[in-house]
Amino acid sequence: MSISDYSDDTKVIKTTTRPDPATGALNPPIQLSSTFAQPDLDHFGKYDYTRSGNPTRDVLEESIAELEHGTRGFAFATGMAAISTAFLTLHQGDHVIVTNDVYGGTFRLVTELLPNYGIEYSFVDLDDEAALKAAFKPNTKVVYVETPANPTLKVTDIKKVVKIAHEHDALVFADNTFMTPIFQKPLDLGVDLVLHSGTKFLAGHSDILAGLIVTKTKELGDAVYFIQNAMGATLGVSDCWLLLRGIKTLGIRMKAEAANALAISKWLQEQPIVQRVNYPGLTDFKGHDVQFDQAISGGAVLSFDIGSEDNVRKLVKELKIPVFSVSLGAVETILSYPPKMSHAELSADERHARGISDGLLRLSVGVEDVEDLEADFAQAFAKIAEKQRV
Ligand SMILES: *Cc1c(COP(=O)(O)O)cnc(C)c1O
Repeated sequence: MSISDYSDDTKVIKTTTRPDPATGALNPPIQLSSTFAQPDLDHFGKYDYTRSGNPTRDVLEESIAELEHGTRGFAFATGMAAISTAFLTLHQGDHVIVTNDVYGGTFRLVTELLPNYGIEYSFVDLDDEAALKAAFKPNTKVVYVETPANPTLKVTDIKKVVKIAHEHDALVFADNTFMTPIFQKPLDLGVDLVLHSGTKFLAGHSDILAGLIVTKTKELGDAVYFIQNAMGATLGVSDCWLLLRGIKTLGIRMKAEAANALAISKWLQEQPIVQRVNYPGLTDFKGHDVQFDQAISGGAVLSFDIGSEDNVRKLVKELKIPVFSVSLGAVETILSYPPKMSHAELSADERHARGISDGLLRLSVGVEDVEDLEADFAQAFAKIAEKQRV
């Protein structure tokens, strides 16, 4: 059996743990060296300078490539550095189609930076097949997908988008941050390039920032490698090691967090104050069937609406277990308020058009005891109801 034959729960261990032949050390050393000594003028070793390649980063890049079923992986300083690098494979005069429900940082990059380099964009509801087909231009080179989307958890049918994009000779890039390869493998569904904010589930402990790219073909991998080395937004060596540490428990964390998210989603649906729960794991959620066709879980992120900003303010004040902050994908449960956090740059009208109502909260469920979490929400909801009565 080779590593590729193992299941993911074995792979996360075997790709991150490599006994050193010289010492037996299980973990790859944190190879803190910017430069590497060369034997002589005529023989150069595998490594010369850490921007171009580093042994610790190599282990991480090979691990994510293996987990995503790609040919080559790349590690960057942040998710946005990875996403920027992916867009730099485009050229002046190219056009990209981007999902309406894209991460805020990606929206900013596409709308405010790419035009400076002569790259055009169109935002499209990727659910709307006719709108997607109509958005292609002769110079369209990439369709950019993110599913499930933030914070509505809207699900995009990856295979459908891939089919249409490839018919138009465009590549598909997919941000797989919310699912991770444990739950969804976009390259197996035909996607050409996968992106991650490694800051979230892959690192898993709200400690480091990181970004990753995995490519399907060697050619696209070569293009990304050239930009990674030329632009230089590589992940620092110590953070590569921390990300490897995070990946070791990715399988068990994702499963525990998703089980908690499903339980809390069902529980929230029964609470009178909750008007709506968005979670792809719920059988009555709109994208549920597509989700379970292309992924094996609904994930660990959900959102729910408690009617008003006023109720949100009270809830945040009363809750004791979840931390109230931006970000997601960690062992601790993180509650965030998209209208004032991730989507603060949108106008109220733009937010409402995307289903981001004033009472909407996003919950990234951690590994705490699910009954403790429910009891905490129950006491907070009771206090809000009490205040409404007096
Ligand atoms: C956080 C996030 C990013 C950006 O990653 P950083 O590590 O913060 O730069 C991109 N996409 C998604 C879906 C994210 O959640």
